Amino acid sequence: MIIKEEQDLIPYQVSCLPATPYLVFAPHPDDETFGMGGTIALASQANHEVTVVVVTDGAAGGKATTRKNEAREAASILGIKKLLFLNLADRGISTNSSVITSFVKLIEKFDPKTIFLPSPLEFHPDHRVVTHITLEAMKRTTSKSRIWFYEISRQSEANRFIDITSVLKIKQKAMKAYKSQLLQRPYDEYVLCLNRLRAYTLPQKIKYAEAFWKLTKDTDQKEVLDHVLNYIIAPDDKPRGVKRLLQSFLRR
Ligand SMILES: [Zn+2]
Repeated sequence: MIIKEEQDLIPYQVSCLPATPYLVFAPHPDDETFGMGGTIALASQANHEVTVVVVTDGAAGGKATTRKNEAREAASILGIKKLLFLNLADRGISTNSSVITSFVKLIEKFDPKTIFLPSPLEFHPDHRVVTHITLEAMKRTTSKSRIWFYEISRQSEANRFIDITSVLKIKQKAMKAYKSQLLQRPYDEYVLCLNRLRAYTLPQKIKYAEAFWKLTKDTDQKEVLDHVLNYIIAPDDKPRGVKRLLQSFLRR
């Protein structure tokens, strides 16, 4: 039996920002900030084009109008210039073809070089559904966008780290904009812990990092794929179709 070395499982260095422009899909107003607000702030400082699409109205976690206003405030702190709201039902996102088509149109309109999606290993079903819909939409476009999964509520598999130490204060300020959510739970504290923990394998001068899983063609990710498949697919689904879909991204 061959036991992999730790550097085969997790990066020991940070990466540069990926190719721009970016299209970030946030299932709820706050996911973009909690999950990758630091990376967005860095992209804004570099004058990179970032478009954030908030998929649901967030009504399962507060008043939709309040949450929208919070998202606008956070976006202005992070330097996001394009913020779109799809207003789909919180915890009720349909995966029908009209929804997939609307995602196709967004991808074609913004023609991003990098698309950020919640990790398929996220707990919240909306997070996984948004990722599923976007991957389906990608099949129907000629887009050559690279997919980067970001983590929100847990450590996911990661093959890229972005050093957010220099913009941590901006991210913290943006997180504070989500007052209605922080009244329910101290999400900003959880996120801070997660970002701090992500420095575990990095040089010590790096205090905080955001983690991503970039789909690459040159990495053997079968293990990760199997992990993902066990996670996102219910027994009565069709694993082979989804497996083919995910593998088609890895082969690109
Ligand atoms: Zn969410």
